[in-house]
Amino acid sequence: GLKKHFPITKGAVIPRKVGAVKAVDGVSFQLEQGKTLGLVGESGCGKSTTGRTILKLIEPTEGQILFKGQDITSLKGNKLRRLRKDMQLIFQDPFASLNPRMTVEQIIAEPMKVFGINKAARRKKIDQLLDVVGLSGYHKNRYPHEFSGGQRQRVGIARALALDPDLIICDEPVSALDVSIQAQVINLMEDLQKEFGLTYLFIAHDLGVVHHISDQIAVMYLGEIVEYGHYHELYEHPKHPYTQALLSAIPEANPHLQKERIVLKGDVPSPAHPPAGCKFHTRCPLAQERCRLEKPIMKTVSPTGQQAACHFVKEVGHGDRFVVPK
Ligand code: SF4
Ligand code: MG
Repeated sequence: GLKKHFPITKGAVIPRKVGAVKAVDGVSFQLEQGKTLGLVGESGCGKSTTGRTILKLIEPTEGQILFKGQDITSLKGNKLRRLRKDMQLIFQDPFASLNPRMTVEQIIAEPMKVFGINKAARRKKIDQLLDVVGLSGYHKNRYPHEFSGGQRQRVGIARALALDPDLIICDEPVSALDVSIQAQVINLMEDLQKEFGLTYLFIAHDLGVVHHISDQIAVMYLGEIVEYGHYHELYEHPKHPYTQALLSAIPEANPHLQKERIVLKGDVPSPAHPPAGCKFHTRCPLAQERCRLEKPIMKTVSPTGQQAACHFVKEVGHGDRFVVPK
């Protein structure tokens, strides 16, 4: 039930609240240890805000975050500091997220310094990390601008691993990279996941990228999850019209298999003024009168627990609970 609403205020001297941008508007999911949940949607749908709220970089407006059974929603001070070790972030743009005046060694050492790890231990760890991300030791004293985009993202990954985290929020980690490099970085991330038992929340706007790495996928639209399921099932049998449209946009190598492109009308409406009823009705090719009036609930639509929020998908079993299929 996670919500993050950013207030819109008017008046420079005495600001008064005149509305809210509902960036995340009631999102629920579970992340299984050692697995990857892909979080997909167009830009501005609330993916990054969801990730940052989980990391406690921003405070949720409402809802609860549980991490390894512990309610971390309102953790503060030292307890929050300790939690920071267990959860890390990999950014979209490795160039912007690496300090240009620091060497690779200093960049990777920084989080360890913050946690008081001594110099000898840091040195040893840096060598190990550069090795596991495929950058050999001699790169240590070079600066980010001396590396290619893919190498810089490897540095970003090494930094994220420095404190042996359990969960890594990957916020579009390959979106800024060339397609040929994307696969290499994703393969590396998969190898690291196996080696270190990492759990990923993998954020992307491209379903093609997420398909490869995810166990489960959640599709977001205007701050809400509209479809959720096992990656294969969601790809083969998308139930929500928005997922169907996103999937139809992925180019297929074999033209005979190319699905007919579903072109959505217009842009994503503003999260400050989301449409009533089903938030997708202004763009949905299947919208009916009912969609403008009534908000669809999340329904279980397959025996393996695939879920979709649309009035016209058929429910199987019972309940609208969010259950992670095993
Ligand atoms: Fe489209 Fe209506 Fe389903 Fe919303 S509820 S996705 S508008 S058909
Ligand atoms: Mg984003």
